[in-house]
Amino acid sequence: MASEKGCKEIPMVMYEARQEPSAPEYCSQGGGYEYPAPPPYSYRETATVEQPVYLVSQPPIIVAGIFSSRPTSTICPSCRQHITTQVTYRLGKLSYLLCTSLCMVGCCFGCCFVPLFVRIFKDADHYCPYCQFHIYRYKRL
Ligand SMILES: [Zn+2]
Repeated sequence: MASEKGCKEIPMVMYEARQEPSAPEYCSQGGGYEYPAPPPYSYRETATVEQPVYLVSQPPIIVAGIFSSRPTSTICPSCRQHITTQVTYRLGKLSYLLCTSLCMVGCCFGCCFVPLFVRIFKDADHYCPYCQFHIYRYKRL
């Protein structure tokens, strides 16, 4: 038994001994290799794969001047969608001015508060219906 072990160990040592000198001969083994492939063909001849810039910078949208007290179709500066503005009426200077004027004239029995409830005397806030962005405030005065 012991002799068999010794016999087995000997070829292993021999094998390792042979392996060591063969290791440096790396190039000689590559004779039949298909390793030396031609250099990979590169499609990057110009190497300019620049992505077209689609104007990420937001140009200013001029919205002033086109608004009235009514819903207006425009482009939302925030979400940049084509929208029809949502108008919210709020009390403006004209409402208070008319109210004060009516009061001074003598309509102090409720008539003076009429301008506070009439839309055409109020300012109009234009909002985007999608993002609720306040686009413009139309002022009577
Ligand atoms: Zn919007």
